[in-house]
Amino acid sequence: MTRPKLYVAGNWKMNGLQADLKEIESVKAGVQPSGPDVAIFPPATLLHQAASLVKGSPVEIGAQDCHAQPKGAFTGDLSAPILKDAGASAVIVGHSERRSGHGETSRDVHAKASAGLKAGLKVIVCIGETKGERVAGLAPEVCARQVAASLPEDSTPDTVIVAYEPVWAIGTGLSPTIPDITAIHEVVRREIHKRFPASEGKHWRVLYGGSVTAANAASIFESAEVDGVLVGGASLNAASFLAIIAAAKAASGSRTA
Ligand code: PEP
Repeated sequence: MTRPKLYVAGNWKMNGLQADLKEIESVKAGVQPSGPDVAIFPPATLLHQAASLVKGSPVEIGAQDCHAQPKGAFTGDLSAPILKDAGASAVIVGHSERRSGHGETSRDVHAKASAGLKAGLKVIVCIGETKGERVAGLAPEVCARQVAASLPEDSTPDTVIVAYEPVWAIGTGLSPTIPDITAIHEVVRREIHKRFPASEGKHWRVLYGGSVTAANAASIFESAEVDGVLVGGASLNAASFLAIIAAAKAASGSRTA
């Protein structure tokens, strides 16, 4: 089975002013077509300029969330078609900061993911357990449940990527062991194949996210189950993000079979 390229995504969260567009320019200058697929998810205010900046390069620009409806009376919200129109080619849904900070359920995430697909966006669906759930031994069950409930029926390996992001590892400097990441990715992949048996034989991308840095990226890519990373803090600076991209490129040679 030919595996897709590794995918390195940077989630800027609520960071990024006009002056920070230069980081995107530097990432564009530093990536090579032979390297991993690269995506940056800046705040919505920078989407249009960021998308123009990366035109013709292997870097794609995405949004951090979308509304489930295509348009309407939803003050302050942004729909998937609006994001696409602004230049986004992908959208993150179900980030734990949305699930916990905005009370979003897997049902909401499913609706947002459907809206993203309908608008022609690639969709990154985030899942992951809390510290309490991990300590209680519930991580596999929680992640399987989130995968089962969050992925729309029309998901395909080309349009949907799952990002395993343990809530307790996001922005904390903590991360699971490599065997722990591998074990959850196996659970995620099993659940995906259970839900989408017709895609058997196709490779779905499962990313890891949670305190990924230039220092630990190479060891995370040692797990053959990891198809890429979703990076928060370390994606804000082009040099550290490029170092993670370089680690992915170095790891990709052994993964093409
Ligand atoms: C994230 O926001 O998806 C994330 C993984 O953040 P950090 O890399 O800062 O932990």
